[in-house]
Amino acid sequence: MQNTIYDVIIVGAGASGLLCARECARGGLRTLVLEKEQTPGRKILVTGNGRCNLTNARVAPAFYHGDNKLISAALSQFSYETCRTYFEDLGILLTEEEQGRIFPQTGKATAVLEPLKLAVLESGAEILTGQTVTKIKHGKIFNITTANGQTFQARRAVLACGSCAYPQIGGTSSGYELAQKSGHTIIPPRPTLSGLVLKENFSRLSGIRAQVKIIGPGIQTQGEIIFTGYGMNGPAALNASGVITRTLANGNVPLHINFLPDVQNAPAFFKERLKRFADRRPKDFFAGVLHESIANLLIDFKGLRKNKPMKEQFPAAVKSAFDTVAAWPVTVTALRPWNEAMAATGGVKTDEINYNTFESLCCPGLYVTGELLDIDGQSGGFNLHFAWASGFIAAQNLVKEK
Ligand SMILES: Cc1cc2nc3c(=O)[nH]c(=O)nc-3n(C[C@H](O)[C@H](O)[C@H](O)COP(=O)(O)OP(=O)(O)OC[C@H]3O[C@@H](n4cnc5c(N)ncnc54)[C@H](O)[C@@H]3O)c2cc1C
Repeated sequence: MQNTIYDVIIVGAGASGLLCARECARGGLRTLVLEKEQTPGRKILVTGNGRCNLTNARVAPAFYHGDNKLISAALSQFSYETCRTYFEDLGILLTEEEQGRIFPQTGKATAVLEPLKLAVLESGAEILTGQTVTKIKHGKIFNITTANGQTFQARRAVLACGSCAYPQIGGTSSGYELAQKSGHTIIPPRPTLSGLVLKENFSRLSGIRAQVKIIGPGIQTQGEIIFTGYGMNGPAALNASGVITRTLANGNVPLHINFLPDVQNAPAFFKERLKRFADRRPKDFFAGVLHESIANLLIDFKGLRKNKPMKEQFPAAVKSAFDTVAAWPVTVTALRPWNEAMAATGGVKTDEINYNTFESLCCPGLYVTGELLDIDGQSGGFNLHFAWASGFIAAQNLVKEK
């Protein structure tokens, strides 16, 4: 048992825990962060393909799944502008890319993690790495025990353990177990922001990118997909996965892929095109509209005769091909597993959390933040934004109630 009684111990030196630690220490709280990995913020380093898409200029509740009341309360206390100013104040130059995605200007995630770590240490918070918290005993004082048998004491505790996504860089179920032992209900976590496994075989398109609209039950998302050996990936597929992961429990999920996302009226578009290019063979007819490999797959799939001009094809086959371009039917049978999922749905049930403060309603003095909660965002910087926001808000309340 250590002699020091900390004001607050934060479990997890990830996005949420680090920001929370800095704010607690800046507010005068004696703060300790316990991190199981040998270095803090490992997950931050892999975000945004190593470039860290840390927030989004369009942050709004519509980009999240989960308790709307809690999300709205968090975003109204920690908006995009607050977030941007916060990281600029840490000395980080930021740049905005397409769809409001915000990255550090250096193009490296270390440009976010290093200044954040420095700011945590400069604030006076301590970080101990290689310390896996295994037990939290509640009372007037929290006794927090780690796997190597050490016990630390604090007046307050924050669970910022993240989710079990990406176990290869430290994702773990540990936070769910600690929260459950503290009286919380855990909504079973499922992978999200993960590739879509399709029943249909698209392996001959593997590696090909396309701008599409994906339409399905509760899904209407536009953006890029990338075909893979198992099905598809890419931002639009990842965003669809947030809804699909919730419906897959009831069976396979049918989708339609529209390869003409910006064409308002596909039948009129093709009618016009046929007038101009009726003498072309199918492959040439689709040139400039579809990627060559996608056109070839369509031609085989719909039985168009490769060496005949469009005007000599069977009308039913032509109509069916045009309909398929605007609504190609596919069936999702699964999402790719945890080691490819960027986030988790499920986690600590949010109606057991005070949505203005992130304090537990089951265990007074305990706070729960970040991806450990049953909130998940679309791809585009929304998950990190929520992790920072919840860590910030929890810290503000910890400082206020000092
Ligand atoms: C490949 C990949 C790319 C991503 N890209 C983006 C992106 O570009 N933009 C975006 O917004 N989001 C992105 N995300 C999601 C984002 O990284 C997470 O939502 C965010 O890191 C969650 O923050 P957190 O603090 O809740 O958890 P984490 O950042 O995961 O931190 C939790 C910390 O707690 C530690 N811990 C867990 N249990 C214990 C324990 N028992 N004792 C001690 N320590 C413990 C962990 O080791 C970890 O360091 C990406 C995720 C992945 C996997």
